[in-house]
Amino acid sequence: MSARRPVTHRAATLGIALLLLGAPVARAADEWVTQARYVMGTVWTVETRGPRSDEAIEGAFTEIRRLDALLSTYRPESELSRVNRSAAKGWVPVSSETYALLERSFGYSKESEGAFDPTVGTLIRAWGFKYLDYHMPAPSVVEAARAKVGFRKVRLDPQKGVRFDVPGLELDLGAIAKGYAVDRALDHLKRMGAVSARVDAGGNQGVWGTGPTRAEWMFGIKHPREDGEILGAVPLAAGAVSTSGDAERGFWHEGVRYGHIVDPHSGRPVSGMLSVTVVSPTAEEADALSTALYVLGVEKGKRLLRDRHPGSHALFVQAGKTPGTFTYATSDGFRWHPQFPER
Ligand code: AMP
Ligand code: MG
Repeated sequence: MSARRPVTHRAATLGIALLLLGAPVARAADEWVTQARYVMGTVWTVETRGPRSDEAIEGAFTEIRRLDALLSTYRPESELSRVNRSAAKGWVPVSSETYALLERSFGYSKESEGAFDPTVGTLIRAWGFKYLDYHMPAPSVVEAARAKVGFRKVRLDPQKGVRFDVPGLELDLGAIAKGYAVDRALDHLKRMGAVSARVDAGGNQGVWGTGPTRAEWMFGIKHPREDGEILGAVPLAAGAVSTSGDAERGFWHEGVRYGHIVDPHSGRPVSGMLSVTVVSPTAEEADALSTALYVLGVEKGKRLLRDRHPGSHALFVQAGKTPGTFTYATSDGFRWHPQFPER
């Protein structure tokens, strides 16, 4: 009997330790709680202040993972992958959530005259941007891919679902899904009673409530060419900010940068634009618009904001005439504190 006592004792200690681990952490109501996780191929940081922050953050990550499982084209079992496999053969029914997101995505396609186009999947593969095996494709490969691109080749029907008019077409929601997930995660935090919150998915961020040290939040805009530098800071009381650029996914070939945002009309990566940052009321809008404006360029981009998205504002960073130089252009209403001069 006595030989078993230490075991019992150890079990009891372990039990207490587990109980303590499982017990909710007591936190002050105004304490900031932050968690970072890797989802959708990027590091997400969720930060919040409120009554049940730990539980709220857990729920926010559950929501982000749920959307990854629904919309990722890297997951063969996702709803979007199922559509890509079967929609050329017949109608594919989809959840109302995916349907609504596709409908809004095609809305951005229409208003940007195809600059934003979620059917770019085959082109993204052709240039090696999907699996980071970047290369210059042969012109015939680009042409073949381009024949499978075009939002007008996809039909949506509220009863029947999604149908493709050409085989091999591939939907890719990489330019909007993260923004949408930021909005859904923020909604979850609000529902849980958060006093303030920030959801950061790298290039896409959304905030709600006051920042940790002042009434406004401050966002750094990454310098598109100088690692570790910021171009400037954007103050934001609520809403979202998104940056699209060629810095993270792209390659150099004979002195030219080829980034992962393609012009669906030419089938080639957009050149001449280094980054576009958009501030919008929602992260979905900021995400879709930063990609659309990256393709549209300054003049058409500003017009799109003025005519269709008066609540959104943009900063364009363009390559200058001599290599290594760049210039800024902003739409009316873009407020920021530049730190890095044009050069
Ligand atoms: P973002 O970083 O939000 O600008 O999204 C870029 C991603 O969207 C790329 O990695 C592609 O998956 C996809 N994409 C590239 N070009 C376009 C385009 N013209 N319209 C819509 N999605 C695009
Ligand atoms: Mg985007």
